[in-house]
Amino acid sequence: MATSFAGGETALFVDRRGRSKLVDLVADTLHHTHTGTIDLNEVIGNAEGVEVMTTGGAKYRVVRPTLSEYVLRMKRGAQVIYPKDIGPILMLADIFPGARVLEAGVGSGALSTALVRAGAHVTGYELREDFAEIAKRNLAAFLGPEASERFEVQLRDVYEGIDERGLDRVVLDLPEPWRVVPHAAEALAPGGIFVAYLPSITQVAQLREALVDSPFDIARTVEVMERSWHVEGRAVRPDHRMVGHTGFLTQTRLLQKQGPPI
Ligand code: SAH
Repeated sequence: MATSFAGGETALFVDRRGRSKLVDLVADTLHHTHTGTIDLNEVIGNAEGVEVMTTGGAKYRVVRPTLSEYVLRMKRGAQVIYPKDIGPILMLADIFPGARVLEAGVGSGALSTALVRAGAHVTGYELREDFAEIAKRNLAAFLGPEASERFEVQLRDVYEGIDERGLDRVVLDLPEPWRVVPHAAEALAPGGIFVAYLPSITQVAQLREALVDSPFDIARTVEVMERSWHVEGRAVRPDHRMVGHTGFLTQTRLLQKQGPPI
């Protein structure tokens, strides 16, 4: 782990009220805020946690962004999956170092970045070239060139089929995952896990129906809720606002066909 900030890094500036933003640390450059400028040379060469002040007197603490902080603030093409769902997806898909994962669609690459960071080799299928480029850029910016070698994107429609064979996992974030069920059954190794993220419960119902007549079994669907708390002295209560809904997570696995009961 690097210690002091270097030029070229992306840092997270956090203000007194906990609001934060990503800033590219370019040497000899002034960063502009609504309360004046900050000389970025005051950050470069200093340790994580350094405090800087704008010419207007506003203070920021500067830290390295976590993956969670990064994906919520990085450039987006498509809507990203929220960290509260990305974490559980890594568990539901049981991602491990070296896992061969097919991901579709790739979108902005938030989930891809988490999969690659957890050690997976990810082949992404994505319809839109502009999104594929954004995803590759986002992933490389956070994980660096070495990890980027474990991420490949193909511009294609996953509803038309999957070429890979012997995959460990198929992870989907697209509108009609039931159309991928037969392809995933061909592409996954026995015991392989299929996970789909869906915003609407009617989509979940359709997916679960498609799974009934398939070689997949032991399906389950979960919803993850996260409620943050306001903690200030003795005023300790849930925050007034929360993200009310994102999506449902469905997990199932490819299992050997059972013969008729004896
Ligand atoms: N999970 C991503 C966001 C994906 S958004 C993230 O966390 O950043 C859904 C993406 O699926 C879009 O980019 C869309 O272009 C792509 N998509 C939709 N249908 C598809 C299909 N049939 N094959 C491949 N990609 C598809």
